[in-house]
Amino acid sequence: MSPDSARAIDGEVIVNGRRYRLPRQPTVVVCIDGSEPGYIERAVEMGRAPWFGKALETGTSLIADCVVPSFTNPNNLSIVTGRPPSVHGICGNYFLDPETGREVMMNDPEFLRVETLFPALQRAGCRIAVITAKDKLRGLLGKGLSLGPGKACSFSSEKADQAILAENGIADVPALVGLPVPDVYSAGLSEFVFAAGVRLMERDRPDIMYLSTTDYIQHKYAPGSAAANDFYAMMDGYLARLEAMGCTLVLTADHGMNDKHDPDGRPDVLYLQDLVDQWLGAGRARVILPITDPYVVHHGALGSFAVVYLPQAASADEVAGKLKRLPAIEAALSREEAAQRFELPADRLGDLVVISTRHKVLGTSASRHDLSGLGEPLRSHGGLSEQKVPLICNRKLAAGAPPRRWRNFDAFDLGLNLVA
Ligand code: ZN
Ligand code: ZN
Repeated sequence: MSPDSARAIDGEVIVNGRRYRLPRQPTVVVCIDGSEPGYIERAVEMGRAPWFGKALETGTSLIADCVVPSFTNPNNLSIVTGRPPSVHGICGNYFLDPETGREVMMNDPEFLRVETLFPALQRAGCRIAVITAKDKLRGLLGKGLSLGPGKACSFSSEKADQAILAENGIADVPALVGLPVPDVYSAGLSEFVFAAGVRLMERDRPDIMYLSTTDYIQHKYAPGSAAANDFYAMMDGYLARLEAMGCTLVLTADHGMNDKHDPDGRPDVLYLQDLVDQWLGAGRARVILPITDPYVVHHGALGSFAVVYLPQAASADEVAGKLKRLPAIEAALSREEAAQRFELPADRLGDLVVISTRHKVLGTSASRHDLSGLGEPLRSHGGLSEQKVPLICNRKLAAGAPPRRWRNFDAFDLGLNLVA
């Protein structure tokens, strides 16, 4: 299909109760994984990110709240559905299936309870491209798309060499991009996303593109550090090329990132399973860390958010009360309180939701965390302290937009509806 073939140009779609104008020029939404406020600004100050500098000055620069738990999957799904997890159902990487008592990965598209914007925009005539760094997100993000040349593609840099027309709507990705498939633990995994995005925009000019990176760099390096500046400089170059092709660009993050170590550089962990075992008896309560995923090397499965399943005899209020008295704990909430406060699906939470303070993380048992892969002092996320994220557009917010609490899942609203 050529870029000029007939399709709806004026018009709109309604997805999950929100209204979106169809794009007049290609609209690219980028989720920069773990982009704590400060990364972009420091790179700009050091002269490494001129495109970002211009966007901050002449476009729209807001601070938004991400979804808590401040994890990757819940937030990516919020961005592409425009709604919180109470609507889309994805509230972590893992939950405990109440029927089987087993920890289940929430990667499978069957766990997604609503449609993303992509199939709706596709039905309205838009061509769609979805590119993620890690393959774990691809199934969820691409759900419901009719894939194929001239229609839509959905692939990851991790498995770029395995992309085939039937499953990804595209093939021979490394040849198209001109780069080899990068290591899953590398900055290159994210660079491949941008390189592929630029090549696809040149070749196919999709109407809607979603790019989602990995937080490998942010887990290791703080804002302003040389490696972080290099990473944002890399991104800056590709974003400038997308803008030169006439794209509206919206950038946000799935969550922020903070140091989570003591002054000696050791991870500052509260081992929650060990603690509830002391209080309630060994193995009676069950602590689940929804940050756990198959790629734990860079954070050792340690984040600032945990859920606890209690034995029937235990009082949730009592355990929450004891937890709240610990200086490491920012919040300990019942299932209902957490579901309401953070807009989460109650049926996929434990009896308690526990959040640690800015520089602390929650573990299960000391014996169950392999921290040998941590090359640098731990940086991680998951809590309220990682809720602030950038929301940036290379176009100006239209005059008269009323003040609001911005969320990262307003990214498509901003890019399609709210900028001049
Ligand atoms: Zn993330
Ligand atoms: Zn992470």
